[in-house]
Formats: sequence, C-alpha cells, structure tokens
Amino acid sequence: RSKEDGRGRWTLYDPSMDDEREMRNQLELDLRAAIERQEIGVAYQPFVRSNNGRIAGVEALARWTREGYGPVSPDVFIPVAESTGLIDLLGMCVLRSACFELRQWPELTLSVNVSPGQFRDPAFVGRVEEILQAADIEPRRLTLELTETYFIQNPARARQTLEMLRGMGIRVALDDFGAGFSSVGYLRQFGFDRVKIDKTLVQDITENQRSAELLHATVALARALDMPVTAEGVETGAQADALRLAGCELLQGYLFGRPSPAEEITRIVRQSYDSLPKMRAAE
Ligand code: C2E
Ligand code: MG
Ligand code: MG
Ligand code: MG
Repeated sequence: RSKEDGRGRWTLYDPSMDDEREMRNQLELDLRAAIERQEIGVAYQPFVRSNNGRIAGVEALARWTREGYGPVSPDVFIPVAESTGLIDLLGMCVLRSACFELRQWPELTLSVNVSPGQFRDPAFVGRVEEILQAADIEPRRLTLELTETYFIQNPARARQTLEMLRGMGIRVALDDFGAGFSSVGYLRQFGFDRVKIDKTLVQDITENQRSAELLHATVALARALDMPVTAEGVETGAQADALRLAGCELLQGYLFGRPSPAEEITRIVRQSYDSLPKMRAAE
C-alpha cells in the first residue's frame, strides 16, 4: 500500500511501521506512568573481593515490571528512557532508593549506572550531592558507572563534570570496558577511579587462549594506568581464579550473586560476617 505524505507525494506505506510506532508510544507512556507512580524497582548485585570472596559492595540495577506484560529488561526500557528524556527522573529515582537502602549496609559501597543524558545535564552534580546529603551517605561510598560514549563525544565537558564529582569525593568507574572501540591510552586523560571489564571479554577466557591473552593485556594496561579493575559477568569458579590471577581486584557475576532484592543482600552480608571466625579457624 502507499500513502500520500501530506505534500502531495506518494510514498511507500508500511503498516507494520505504524504498529511499531504505536507499541513504542505505549511503552513510553507506561514507563512514564510507572516512574510517576514510583514503580521502578532496584535490584542489587554484589561484587566481591577476589582475594577472599567477601562482599565489598553492590551495584544498583533498575527493574520494571510492566502491568499486563511482566518484567521488562533494562536493555529495552533504558534506551526508551534515554531517547525520551525520562532517564533523568528514572536515574534519580534509582540513585535515591539505592542511597537510602545503603544506610542499612554500613560496610558496603554502592555503584549506580548513569546514562550520558544525565551526565550532560548541568544540574546533575548538584542533584547527586543533594541525595547523598539527604541519605547521609559519605560521597566516597558512591561510584558512578559510565560507558565510554560520553567521554569520547564530549571530552572537555566530561572532564569538567568528572572533576566536580571527584572534588566532592565521588568515584567514577568506566563501565563495559573492552566492549567499545576506544583505547585505554585515550581514556587515560580522564583518570577513572576504576575500570569494569565487560562480560563479553570474560565469557570464554577459560576455553579460548586468545580471549585469555586479550583479557590479561587489558587488565595489565588498566593497572599500569593505576586504575583498579572489576570484572563483570563471572559465572564459573575457573573464570574467577583466572581473573584473580590476572589482577582483577573485584569480581561480579552470577557465581557470586544475581541482582537481588535488598533483603537478599542483607542476608549475604550477615552470612559473610558469620563465616569470618570459621575462616580464621581454618587458617
Ligand atoms: P551493566 O551496568 O553493565 O550491568 C551488568 C548487566 O549484566 C546487568 O544486566 C546484570 O544483571 C548482568 N549480569 C550480571 N552478572 C552477570 C553474569 O554473570 N552473566 C550474565 N550473562 N549477565 C550478568 P541488567 O540488569 O539487565 O542491566 C543491563 C544494563 O542496563 C546495565 O549494564 C546498564 O547499562 C543498564 N542499566 C541498568 N540499570 C540502570 C540504571 O538505573 N540507570 C542506567 N542509566 N542504566 C541502567
Ligand atoms: Mg554497570
Ligand atoms: Mg557493565
Ligand atoms: Mg553492560
């Protein structure tokens, strides 16, 4: 079928495009309503020290159960939030919930993901500061995780924002490292406090010699630049051993815990303390 485009011309008309647009609009409307009704949840995934397996902190991950549909993946709704400007509100909801939740885990640190659109907003740093103060959380306990895109596109602005955050004591980690195209050399100028190696680089290190070498080189480079390394997506004990030997200080992945409700984190923290005397006794 074809359709007049309004200027007297005829263009190809694809009805499935209308369906897709309609579905996207509905998704956006539902997401907006969910944010307004404060229905965006937060799951917490632990990360552990590679030398003793003990929990060091948690990463906050946004969760949304869409009415009539069930859980929607962040890989679906975060891009929608980013392209519609909803990410500011959503991001602040997640940060606020997580900072208040962190009060019950005084021994842990918190990582929160931040989208380029949030980081670009001049009001961002002030809002983060406000939330930390309201929750009475020391800025040093918060790490913001960002991917390389924003740093590549706006190096000058990005460096400025980084300096403001660092001035307040907040840490910044480079997320999904190794999944993009930029070199560590280029990223060096930003002086990240930490690098998170992407799970795609971790996946087959125990089966593929090439992958293992690539991982070793990436970790060595990050460490040479004084950036401590977290590995994400750790699923097997063999991977954990290899990553520890390669020099990854923190490990995160299903092996140590899935993204879970806050109560589960409380249980893990308690367990990790209960096991302390046993570990000493075993030494
Ligand atoms: P990310 O920050 O790189 O988070 C890691 C993702 O890997 C999470 O997916 C986590 O559930 C998953 N993961 C953790 N361990 C394993 C493992 O052992 N194996 C495998 N296969 N996967 C593992 P999730 O929760 O679906 O989030 C996807 C992405 O959505 C995140 O990637 C992050 O970029 C974004 N995201 C999530 N929450 C937020 C948020 O509050 N704000 C922003 N801006 N982005 C968010
Ligand atoms: Mg992350
Ligand atoms: Mg990541
Ligand atoms: Mg990722």
